[in-house]
Parts: sequence; structure tokens; C-alpha cells
Amino acid sequence: MDFSIPEHVQDITRRVRQFIDQEVIPLEAHLEEHEDGLTPAQLDALRAKAKAAGLWCPQLPKELGGLGLSLQEIVPVFEAAGRSLIGPVALNCSAPDEGNMHLLHMFANEEQAERYLKPLAAGKIRSAFAMTEPAPGAGSDPTMLKTTAVRDGDEWVINGHKWFSSGARGAAFLIIMAVSNPDVPTHKGSTLFLAPIETPGIDIIRDVPIMGAKDLGGHCEIKFHDLRLPNSAILGEEGHGFGLTQKRLGPARMTHCMRWTGIAQRALEIATQYASEREAFGSALTGHQAIQWMLADSAIDLHAGRLMINQTAWLLAQGQEARQESSMCKVFVAEAVNRVLDRAIQICGAKGISRDLPLSKWYEAARAFRIYDGASEVHRMVIARQVVKAYSS
Ligand SMILES: Cc1cc2nc3c(=O)[nH]c(=O)nc-3n(C[C@H](O)[C@H](O)[C@H](O)COP(=O)(O)OP(=O)(O)OC[C@H]3O[C@@H](n4cnc5c(N)ncnc54)[C@H](O)[C@@H]3O)c2cc1C
Repeated sequence: MDFSIPEHVQDITRRVRQFIDQEVIPLEAHLEEHEDGLTPAQLDALRAKAKAAGLWCPQLPKELGGLGLSLQEIVPVFEAAGRSLIGPVALNCSAPDEGNMHLLHMFANEEQAERYLKPLAAGKIRSAFAMTEPAPGAGSDPTMLKTTAVRDGDEWVINGHKWFSSGARGAAFLIIMAVSNPDVPTHKGSTLFLAPIETPGIDIIRDVPIMGAKDLGGHCEIKFHDLRLPNSAILGEEGHGFGLTQKRLGPARMTHCMRWTGIAQRALEIATQYASEREAFGSALTGHQAIQWMLADSAIDLHAGRLMINQTAWLLAQGQEARQESSMCKVFVAEAVNRVLDRAIQICGAKGISRDLPLSKWYEAARAFRIYDGASEVHRMVIARQVVKAYSS
């Protein structure tokens, strides 16, 4: 495996880093006073600047207006964008739209691509992916899916209850996972549907309040009451919902890891800066071994995480499923990012807890990373299954 970063990727990474420093990080101050995030006008202006700077959608092919970078090539670029929680939204490479664009690019037919993918890639609309349901429905175990899609002539009638559909408030459409054939196991009998948000029968009940900064479009609880969709709303093929979702989730896990590495790297930089300036017991904090070890452990966590991301992206690029590696990478990076943020707060003392630094907000936001896209325990279960299969007698 070649670890060198091609010249053009280094150049884009440098320019993204500069854009984040000059255009994005100054806007973080606005978030301190406005918990609803950037205004639509601010976001539009920021996105226009990203387009003008030639940094729009690094992950998309050029014919869709992107930079045409591969999964491996976006690793340092997404990390640079992820140095601010607003960075990925500015470049149109944030969750859930980035994963949804990837899914649509792989499986949308021409009409669906025209209607959903192109405006999403242009940043004209947003989207949401509605799979998770409150108990007793699908969560860690997607085979517990309760939302149903029943065929009625050329239409499907969908009923169900979802929550944590990120970005749904203000989205133009939902990608809905539903059981379309209850007579076969759920993983063979579920289907993905594309539903314009204004379709009668979609009821956004609330934006579930969560810890951490508010994300664009929130994390919505939604009910479907006799939602009628035409047969042409099916993404891919009927009964293929699970397979398609796996194709979306594999790379989407990696891109979450890339973006969060950017925040963790910035946290290490902030902690090191504080420790080099703050004095206690006769020296700068960096002179104390306990602080040095925390800095070293965070540097090790970041380095190991980057190597795992790169290797998993490389395997996926070879056409391998890399299930084991992507689970290992997701668990490690999600937990490493939380460790790095925790140490950074500890090193910065009271200032780390204060809102004068961004660390406490990131700490709150990063906690969810150990739960979404598969909780750490579920990934460990998957990893252990393979270990037992390989090494038990
Ligand atoms: C911020 C955020 C954004 C999200 N965005 C989306 C989205 O856009 N679309 C969407 O569909 N979903 C989304 N989700 C939902 C997310 O995918 C689920 O939360 C996740 O799959 C876990 O499901 P659950 O919350 O129902 O947990 P549960 O299934 O109720 O599990 C609870 C806990 O039990 C433990 N557990 C579960 N299984 C096992 C096991 N086998 N062994 C040991 N322990 C286990 C884990 O610790 C887990 O955290 C989001 C969640 C969050 C927090």
C-alpha cells in the first residue's frame, strides 16, 4: 500500500485548510450566540465562496460539479474540512447529504438522478435518510424494521414511525427504509423509497432535542400515515433495501471518521497551545510529564486512526467489502476522538470546560459518534464473530 499523497490532493487539502481557517472558523463565533446555527443567507454566502474557490463537493465526480477525488484521496481533504463543525456543510460534504449523494450516484436511475441527485450535488436542496425507529422498531438491529410498504396497484402505501432522521427539517426529500415483503426475512424483504417531503402522509412530529450543537435540519421524529408513493419512487430494486444501505453505510462510516479526525486534531493543537503558555509549579504545563503523556497519547490515537482510515479506504477502493476493517476503524476512531477531546479539556482546565474554547461543544457533539452508524458494542460484536470463526476450534 502506497501512503504518499498525490500532488493534486495535497494542493486541495492545503486550499481547504486555508478556506476553513479564513472563511469558516471566524463564523464559529456566530454559533456561540445563535444556537440555531448559521442563517440561510450566511450559509448560502459561505457555499458560494467554497464553489468560487474550487472546493465544492470534493467527493463527487466532475460531471456532478465535484472535484472527482476517490475515497482514498478525500481522506486528508475531509479531515481539513472537518476542522470546523461547519466546514463540511460549507463544502457540501457533510452527513447525511454526502452519504445520500453517494447512494444516489450508485443506484438512482436517470429520472431520480435528475430530480434528486443533481440539485443535491448543486447544494440547492438537502436530504434525510430515515431508517432508525423508536423501540420496538429498527435501531442497532435493523431486522426489527416495523415501517411497512404495502403495494396497491402501481403505488405503495407506507405506514410507520421513524426518529433521528438527521437533516429532515427543511430537507426536500427523504430516503425511507420499509418492509415491502413481510413473508421473507427482513434483510431480503425491505426496500428504499424516495419521498418528496411535501407528499401527504409525512408528518414531522418534532426535532428531537439532543446534547451538543444543533445540526442543520435537526434529528427528526417522523410518522408516516398512509403515505402513497408511485412504484417509480423505489431506489434500486424492490427487496434490495438492506444491500443498498450497507453500500451507503460502509463509506459513510469512513467519511465520519475523516471529518471527526479534523476536530480531534484541532483539539490537540488547542490543548498544546494552552499547555505551552500556562505555567504551574515552576514550569509551563508542557514541562510536566502527566501533560506530556496526554499529548503523546492523543498524537498516537490520531496517528493510529489515520492509518486505519487510510487502509480501510484503500481496501474499499480495491472493491473489497472490508467489513471487519471498517468496523474496527469506526470503533477505534469514534472512541479515540472522544479520548482526545476529553484529554484536551483536562489539559485546558477550567478554560476547557468554558465556552471560551470550542472543546466543550465538540465534546458534547462527539459523544453521539460512538452510537450512530453502529454503536461501538455492535461493531465489536461483528468483529468478534469473525475472530471466533477464525480462531475457535
Ligand atoms: C446524532 C445522531 C444522528 C443520527 N442520524 C441518523 C439518520 O440520519 N438516520 C437514521 O436512520 N438513523 C440515525 N441515527 C440513529 C442511529 O443510527 C442509531 O441511534 C443507532 O443505530 C443505534 O440504534 P438505537 O439508538 O435504537 O440503539 P439501541 O438499538 O436501542 O441500542 C442501545 C444500546 O445498546 C447497546 N447494544 C445494542 N446492540 C448490542 C449488542 N448486540 N451487544 C451489546 N450491546 C448492544 C449499544 O450500546 C447501544 O448504544 C442517528 C443517531 C444519532 C445519535
